[in-house]
Amino acid sequence: MRSQSYLLTRVVLLFSILLLAATFANAEVYMWIGPDNIFQLTNIKPDWWTEDMDQMAPSDIRPPDVEKVTYPGKYVGDKENRKFHLPSCEQIYTSDGKMAIPDNKIIWFQSTDEAISLGYIACDHCKPLQSNEED
Ligand SMILES: [Zn+2]
Repeated sequence: MRSQSYLLTRVVLLFSILLLAATFANAEVYMWIGPDNIFQLTNIKPDWWTEDMDQMAPSDIRPPDVEKVTYPGKYVGDKENRKFHLPSCEQIYTSDGKMAIPDNKIIWFQSTDEAISLGYIACDHCKPLQSNEED
């Protein structure tokens, strides 16, 4: 454990120097503690950064646990009603956050074209065709 705390001290020192240098260069820096207690430093504001964090010590800042949900496709279809949705569409979830489409009725698509070519209709709630245009 002794060598680990020695290493941490070195890392903290290194970042302090970088932070000081960046401050003199009048650059914005964002510093926080990431996974495995490793200091993270960037000049690009993370999208989860809040104004409160500007006033906080880097050692107190931790990013929110962003749940990385991976889906087997970009769009999800319901074989029952032949509609396809964005995976985030609230219409395909029950009130307790579970997928409302039964497993044997789910079909995943990689593109809206694929869904349409198979006769699926875009959901008018989440509008997967509009989000496609924005990409
Ligand atoms: Zn939808």
